[in-house]
Amino acid sequence: MKREIRVAKYYGYCSGVELAVNTLNRIMEKEKEIYIYGDLIHNRIVMEELKQRGLKVIKNIDEIPETGTMVIRTHGVKPEVYDKAKEKGLKIVDLTCIFVKRSQNFAKKIISEDLKLIIIGEKNHDEILSIQGNAGGESIVINSVEEAKSINGVERAGIVIQTTFERELAKSIIGELFDKINYMEIYNTICDATEKRQESCKALASQTDSFVVIGDKNSSNTNRLYEIAKSINKHTFMVSDKRSINCDDFKYSKTVGVTAGASTPDYIINGVIERIENC
Ligand code: SF4
Repeated sequence: MKREIRVAKYYGYCSGVELAVNTLNRIMEKEKEIYIYGDLIHNRIVMEELKQRGLKVIKNIDEIPETGTMVIRTHGVKPEVYDKAKEKGLKIVDLTCIFVKRSQNFAKKIISEDLKLIIIGEKNHDEILSIQGNAGGESIVINSVEEAKSINGVERAGIVIQTTFERELAKSIIGELFDKINYMEIYNTICDATEKRQESCKALASQTDSFVVIGDKNSSNTNRLYEIAKSINKHTFMVSDKRSINCDDFKYSKTVGVTAGASTPDYIINGVIERIENC
């Protein structure tokens, strides 16, 4: 069957990821001993390729020799990691996305104003850990309306939102908090790239017989796109690359909608599209 593939208006690499990957590629052409604390982006295929080209992923600064260069991932790190690298005299290349830095700064401001910091996002996600670390005070992380309902005894709070969080869910959580907390400063720190990808995913998902979200299962923004699309189009699949396509899934689909998370490169997206076209 001839199949029409429609691609969402906004999809794939965002400006933060593109800048980070391009910068790292440039550095890797010149330098050899490059280390990164955690993953640069949440895409295991891209990370595997970088590792094969010599990037070393570490969990502890002590693993980096004094002659090494330390790259800071897009999600940022706690200040302790940065300080330890500086103390050791390492060359530091900071690829923290500017939108994550903006959230870190708002969180710091909230703590300095003596408000309770509430972060809407996923506990233990790299970005949330970097925001908590940089804020330097106590915080509450919530991910659902149920968790918002369980908050008690907070009178004055400041709120930041994970950059890749789903807008509608964030609004519902804030609505719940609004009824419980007397004074709130709300910073909408969902990044523009996330909003555009979610909106165009929503717009396309209802227009096609089936829908495919391309990205890594570890990628928060990819998971959000999948949840959004699945709630609109029951025939939605999440795939990491063309190898995870099952042609039987598209047997009866004349039209297939496609989008991709912000850490999915073009060559993976094109590979998936080609595979579905030839199913
Ligand atoms: S999704 Fe947004 S916050 Fe995350 S790297 Fe891309 S632009 Fe930055």
